[in-house]
Amino acid sequence: MGQTLEPGALYVVGTPIGNLGDFSPRARETLEQADFIAAEDTRVTLRLLNHFGIKKPLVSYFEHNKLEHGPLIVARLREGQTCALVSDAGMPAISDPGETLVAACAAAGLPVYVVPGPTAALSALAISGLPTGRFTFEGFLSVNKRSRKEHLEAVAQEQRTMIFYEAPHKLRKTLSDFARLFGPDRPIALCRELTKVHEEVWRTTLGEAAAHYRETEPRGEFVLVVAGAQAPAAAEREYTLEEAVELARSLGAGGLSASEAAKEAAQETGFKKGEIYRRLMERE
Ligand code: SAM
Repeated sequence: MGQTLEPGALYVVGTPIGNLGDFSPRARETLEQADFIAAEDTRVTLRLLNHFGIKKPLVSYFEHNKLEHGPLIVARLREGQTCALVSDAGMPAISDPGETLVAACAAAGLPVYVVPGPTAALSALAISGLPTGRFTFEGFLSVNKRSRKEHLEAVAQEQRTMIFYEAPHKLRKTLSDFARLFGPDRPIALCRELTKVHEEVWRTTLGEAAAHYRETEPRGEFVLVVAGAQAPAAAEREYTLEEAVELARSLGAGGLSASEAAKEAAQETGFKKGEIYRRLMERE
């Protein structure tokens, strides 16, 4: 706090995903101090600015004008102005405009700083109840049939927890595709309307979720957190008697008595201890 913005820098600023109480004091200060704000939808951002009493020039920056507006923003940064980049909700550049602008600034050698805020993906993962140690962010599935199929097939055997974004009107199709390709018993946490009045987490299976939403109209914003595939059971190693005797011999060389070595080798390989012991003695 009490920061001074660096001239010519881009500040990537997280905004609430629902609850305005999650707007951080530093995010507010950054928007107040920046020379201008690049916003995904200027009307949405204007509502946020009005709520916090911030007055600031806005430029729009989104998918369909980024090639035109990106270079203009970079040119202003080069002149020493500071820009705060925001999206409609959450972290810019995460399934939102910003990725290209950040890359352009980095390529131009301009400083890029983050003012972190909520992001739906990690908020959902944190309360999913699924393993969080290793996870992948899959974002939105493509609307293109072929790339959607390729994406789903590529992750069907993924063992890490997977995080997907989905729009309510596509939820049914996505859940039924998940259940078909990942199996109906795979656990899922459907995280809905996070930080809002109707926040809800439903921890269930893909089969149950698909069946429920065939009957019920999905409403609100969803993050789908899907458990990874089970690791295939380690194939049991098959030993020959010769290998079992070799194992006993190396255990013996490591300090075990012949009898102890034969016993351990028998446990590991499935051959009888007496059989290994006899062969061990024959060779001595
Ligand atoms: N940049 C944003 C972030 O950091 O989370 C994501 C923007 S993406 C265009 C919008 C998607 O994020 C929605 O379709 C939904 O999957 C998810 N999302 C955003 N806000 C949410 C919320 N409050 N609850 C659940 N999901 C949310």
